[in-house]
Amino acid sequence: RSAMDPAVMAKRDEKLHVAMIGLCGCWGCTLSFLDMDENLLRLLDRITITRSSFTDVKRIPRRAAIGFIEGGVANEENIETLVHYRENCDVLISVGACAVWGGVPAMRNLVPLEDCLREAYVDSPTRPLQQPPTIPYHEDIPKLTTKVYPLHEVVKIDYFIPGCPPDGQTIFKVLDDLVHGRDFSIPAHINRFD
Ligand code: SF4
Repeated sequence: RSAMDPAVMAKRDEKLHVAMIGLCGCWGCTLSFLDMDENLLRLLDRITITRSSFTDVKRIPRRAAIGFIEGGVANEENIETLVHYRENCDVLISVGACAVWGGVPAMRNLVPLEDCLREAYVDSPTRPLQQPPTIPYHEDIPKLTTKVYPLHEVVKIDYFIPGCPPDGQTIFKVLDDLVHGRDFSIPAHINRFD
């Protein structure tokens, strides 16, 4: 059994460090994490949340037993953040459509990146009003990847929670299962898209 096995997680003596970060998403999944609300109180003797909207630190301060992550990979900074997160999480869980398959941001994959930028910043009637219209460039602006990628195409992902967003109860169910060493399961209605 590996360190990622739920039964192994349940036998750990120390509190499990739990984190959540976001890449290219809308932060809706992160809000669902907050929607676990008072359910989290039932786990506070077993977990410590080190990184989330609760704490708003930029990097996880120490290794996490369970890492949740929303959003896909859309730029080089996302890749750097994701690789660092993967290296510092025992269990890594993709949360939501953007993380699982790219979601709405991946709609830009249907057209070449240059066309997408031109439509956004030069040709669109809703473009920024600077004159002349230009595509922004600065060395401090993360370079966009050619396409938006789901997380599992960049690093190994252990579990997937679909939905846009999955609700707080679903995220809690996953967390509760892992913390108590139960087989990981998601309610069937979460996997329906009709
Ligand atoms: Fe937002 Fe939906 Fe993407 Fe979650 S899956 S980050 S709610 S667009």
